[in-house]
Amino acid sequence: MFNIVIFGKPGSGKGTQANFLKEKYSLYHISTGDLFRKNISNETKLGIQAKSYLDKGDLVPDSVTIKMLENEVLSNKKVKGYIFDGFPRTLAQAESLETFLSSIKLKINATIALDVDENELITRLIDRGKTTNRTDDQDLEKIKNRFNEYNNKTSILINFYDKQGKFHLVDGKGSVDDITLRLFNLVESLI
Ligand code: ADP
Repeated sequence: MFNIVIFGKPGSGKGTQANFLKEKYSLYHISTGDLFRKNISNETKLGIQAKSYLDKGDLVPDSVTIKMLENEVLSNKKVKGYIFDGFPRTLAQAESLETFLSSIKLKINATIALDVDENELITRLIDRGKTTNRTDDQDLEKIKNRFNEYNNKTSILINFYDKQGKFHLVDGKGSVDDITLRLFNLVESLI
């Protein structure tokens, strides 16, 4: 099993690159953002709980998010590894992920962060907002709030994984293909 966390600010390309990594290394891709959006569009109980947070660009409470993630892993166990996209995003999530994975004899092998500056991200997100129905990409205040959430709650995870020797920063600027190549080269050096 090779389990990766892909990490980065909103718009850094986590989802796009997770899809390439998933194909190349036969991983099971879990995007908490996609799971929330699916639940919202299906109007499930979970979706109703999560909607107001996504609409504002706030993080969904840990208890809800952690349970959803654990259920997704437990319902997809016969896989070669997982790629966690958008999870963990808080220290409590990272700690509970460790406890949970070790309870099923798994661990995170690598955390890979895509590094892109905020000005470039704003341009990307506003562009994405024009072609998708993601309302959190269509409003500068919501985008800035998501950066704040990242800076206040998520960025501390760099230190959490770095202390374990599992943190890898990859330049997230350039063409999609260039970035994919950088990620593949990195993963090759780790497996
Ligand atoms: P982006 O990284 O561009 O913000 P995502 O699809 O990863 O896009 O996340 C969209 C939204 O889903 C977040 O702003 C947040 O409201 C919610 N969300 C996703 N993952 C988590 C998480 N691990 N913890 C709390 N909320 C989350």
